[in-house]
Amino acid sequence: MEKVIITVATTGAWPQKEHNPNIPLTPQEIAADVYECWKEGAAIAHLHMRDDQGRGTMNKDKFRETVELIRSKCDIIINCTTSGDLNATDETRMAHLIDLKPEMASYDCGSMNWMHNSLFLNTPQFLEKLGQTMLENNVKPEIEIFDAGMIYNSFYYVKKGILRTPAHYQFVLGADGGSAATVENLVYLKSLIPKDATWSALGIGKGHIPLMYAAIALGGHIRVGMEDNVYYAKNRLAKSNAEFVARAARLIKEANKEVASPAEAREILNLKNRTITGE
Ligand code: ZN
Repeated sequence: MEKVIITVATTGAWPQKEHNPNIPLTPQEIAADVYECWKEGAAIAHLHMRDDQGRGTMNKDKFRETVELIRSKCDIIINCTTSGDLNATDETRMAHLIDLKPEMASYDCGSMNWMHNSLFLNTPQFLEKLGQTMLENNVKPEIEIFDAGMIYNSFYYVKKGILRTPAHYQFVLGADGGSAATVENLVYLKSLIPKDATWSALGIGKGHIPLMYAAIALGGHIRVGMEDNVYYAKNRLAKSNAEFVARAARLIKEANKEVASPAEAREILNLKNRTITGE
């Protein structure tokens, strides 16, 4: 039966306790939350860190503490962000990858005006360095796509040998400054990626549920969690990230598919057979 991978993005860089008191922010909170999500069927944990004031940080000690706590509890695939702190340098955006060698990390394949108030900057120089660092440390890129141009940009890095195929894409729809979270946009973007690529999708805001249904129907994988949505339903805050994962798992089963375990996700994403050099 067809397997669907659930990624949980527990924290992100922006939501605070005042937006949802149940959002995990410290390494202990994030690790405990990821464990609950794993029990409900999440196979990948997409991680962001916060500093002691709750702001997004690329502090590699925070990443290390969190990743070690998670690894001591379950076999979920670790997927670290490479962004979310506007003051980070190219080097600090990659330092935790070298340090921890997570199985996956985000690779944001272009720049964008972010939330109408800042620049989401991923320069050509950074993308080359990030891709090389991922190759050297055997980290599989999750190519995040906010609009169609970023897909074409990814083809350039594939051609240069900086991104390897089959590639894995994450369609991030509904961010202010990127493509809206509509089923039509998802169908269009999915039509642009190569046939051998794997992909997942998420919707920020009210497009979250339609996009989840559409991704399941189109043969994709899905991402849920408070990085993307602090509301579980209209006017109802999420009680936990595990609640989002449990709903995603129910929908997958209702669609006559199966929730992929971390081991099955490693097969689907070809994480086990990756080598540091060579195709
Ligand atoms: Zn993220």
